[in-house]
Amino acid sequence: MSERLQRLRTRLGEMGLDALLVSTPENRRWLSGFTGSAGWLLITSTEALLATDFRYVEQAGQQAPAFRVVRITGSYEWLPKLLQETGVRRVGFEAGHVTVATYQALVQALKDAQAREVSLQATQGVVEALRMKKDPGELALIAQAVRICDLALQEVAPTIREGETERAVAWRLEKAMRELGAEGLAFETIVASGPNSALPHHRPSDRPIQAGEPIVIDFGARYQGYCADITRTFCLGPAPETFRRVYDIVLTAQLTALATIQEGMKAGDADRIARKVIEDAGYTENFGHSLGHGIGLAVHEAPRLGPGSETPLEEGTVFTVEPGIYISGWGGVRIEDTVVLEKGRVRSLTSLPKREDPLGLGS
Ligand code: ZN
Ligand code: ZN
Repeated sequence: MSERLQRLRTRLGEMGLDALLVSTPENRRWLSGFTGSAGWLLITSTEALLATDFRYVEQAGQQAPAFRVVRITGSYEWLPKLLQETGVRRVGFEAGHVTVATYQALVQALKDAQAREVSLQATQGVVEALRMKKDPGELALIAQAVRICDLALQEVAPTIREGETERAVAWRLEKAMRELGAEGLAFETIVASGPNSALPHHRPSDRPIQAGEPIVIDFGARYQGYCADITRTFCLGPAPETFRRVYDIVLTAQLTALATIQEGMKAGDADRIARKVIEDAGYTENFGHSLGHGIGLAVHEAPRLGPGSETPLEEGTVFTVEPGIYISGWGGVRIEDTVVLEKGRVRSLTSLPKREDPLGLGS
């Protein structure tokens, strides 16, 4: 944690800030180790404070030994008090997380305390940028979350039968992940069959799964806070010609991206590699989302691998590569791996097969 704090302090110095008020749960956890659902970090050039309420004081003390824990109540009187104690003036806050109501309450608390010398500065993505590059400990946790996904799908996929509902399959998969050691889900499981699979974020329904139609399963385990995000598409029984053709294009797009993405490449250029394969095949309008996203404590985090993204992909960044083609009325195909940039190249963390009939369900 001390190295993380040091990196943040360097960044705050570059930004001309005396301190940062951290409220985003993943940032709070990443910097302090504290996993509670409420609390603020105040990080100055010399101090690290964790302000939380009665419910979490003891837990905070145990989980965040590098921080001085301050017990607070619902009002924001603690803020001017701590700022006066630490003598900081230019204080950043996380504009992507603090609501307008909370911001107004913070401003009012400063006013009430006549802390005129303090100015609150909106910041965005400061800690998120530091979180992009994973350390070996974080990578091991993500790899374990992915491994749970691999085992769970290998266990559940062969049991899927024609006529059972998307919801039933989703539940079996979730149960398997929990039994394999997941502490929870990284996000709501997607099981989308037939025309439903044309909706990238379809919620599992009571629709019975049919043979010969695409079934998209997009799922992720959470392990010690860290997320996995994997998608596989397959069909029960022999795959019809359309399925095979669309699947092949998506797979080529994904494999091309995995083989070509390199350290230092802009995230938007990574997206371009896969998108070009899909465009060249005539499906430009059918790939309406980004190629991927960073993943870690949050399932969607920096960098965004989408058109126009200028963020360079750095060694140690973990992200997804998930091209798809969606055809309204027919369905969709998406193939997604969680990967790490290692020794300059992409290494996939999942070992789930993805050639046609990836799970051996065809007859
Ligand atoms: Zn996904
Ligand atoms: Zn994803």
